[in-house]
Amino acid sequence: MAELLVESKGLKKYFPVSKGLFGQNKSYVRAVDGVSLSIRKGETLGLVGESGCGKSTTGRMMMRLLAPTKGEIWFNGQDISKLNDKQLREVRKDFQMIFQDPYASLNPRMTVGEIIAEPLIVHNMMEKKERERRVHELLECVGLTHYHANRYAHEFSGGQRQRIGIARALSVNPKLIVADEPVSALDVSIQSQVLNLMQDLQKELGLTYLFISHDLSVVEHISDRVGVMYLGKIVEISHKESLYENPLHPYTKALMSAVPVANPRMKKERIILEGDIPSPSNPPTGCTFHPRCRSCMEICKTTVPELKEIEPGHFAACHLYV
Ligand code: SF4
Repeated sequence: MAELLVESKGLKKYFPVSKGLFGQNKSYVRAVDGVSLSIRKGETLGLVGESGCGKSTTGRMMMRLLAPTKGEIWFNGQDISKLNDKQLREVRKDFQMIFQDPYASLNPRMTVGEIIAEPLIVHNMMEKKERERRVHELLECVGLTHYHANRYAHEFSGGQRQRIGIARALSVNPKLIVADEPVSALDVSIQSQVLNLMQDLQKELGLTYLFISHDLSVVEHISDRVGVMYLGKIVEISHKESLYENPLHPYTKALMSAVPVANPRMKKERIILEGDIPSPSNPPTGCTFHPRCRSCMEICKTTVPELKEIEPGHFAACHLYV
């Protein structure tokens, strides 16, 4: 089994919100509330959940773009959760991000070559000539050509822009790439091309991905393991096959029931989730999913279920499995 690359332990992110006339009453939005997960070298971990469940905040904390309120982040055997800005600069080139919106994430005033070379300049890597060579190599690597280096981002289609975003992320040879909804803004026909490119690059360059998406089909396509988040917590995590064939947590079951099946003769019961996702500033007691859960029992209203290994490698946080 490959070694661990990154691991979070009890990661929390609480954002303060002031209430009252002079902001004297402080409360907190618990965006991430005790997330422990690990990713091995060369692996893709998918994180899914409804919007606002804390998956993007988790991704940003794993890269230390956001400082955690509590908890630890171990990267390559080093606790990076408490590093200061200077120390962080040293490790930052090991993490890169691919963003959701390839339209907004590329500077319109820079040529594609400048966009891709920027991280190399920021991290003081390579002389000008070598940088140019690297930019051309990266463009070829993502299925574009070196002629594209002198063009501007607006001259490209959405799929091509995401390829430019990927080339930029790869420029500094990162060890971990956090991809936050990288194909959500693209047409379905282009999505699989970008996902296949990411998979090919992973095999070729030994990349490790944390892949964040609300789309279960997209996550199934690319991930080795998948974690399901609800209201700032991981409620289920497992190898992809086990999670998609046999989801255990009632929330995962409801999400899965909404995914269309390829075979129209296969009947699938659609579980409609009642109500909205509760406010993370005032989460329900016990199991935070209990107000929306069809299987809710008395214990669920008072006692927080722990994430436990129910089957080998398959963890769920639910009182149904004691
Ligand atoms: Fe439903 Fe209870 Fe399981 Fe929560 S712990 S998901 S409320 S059965």
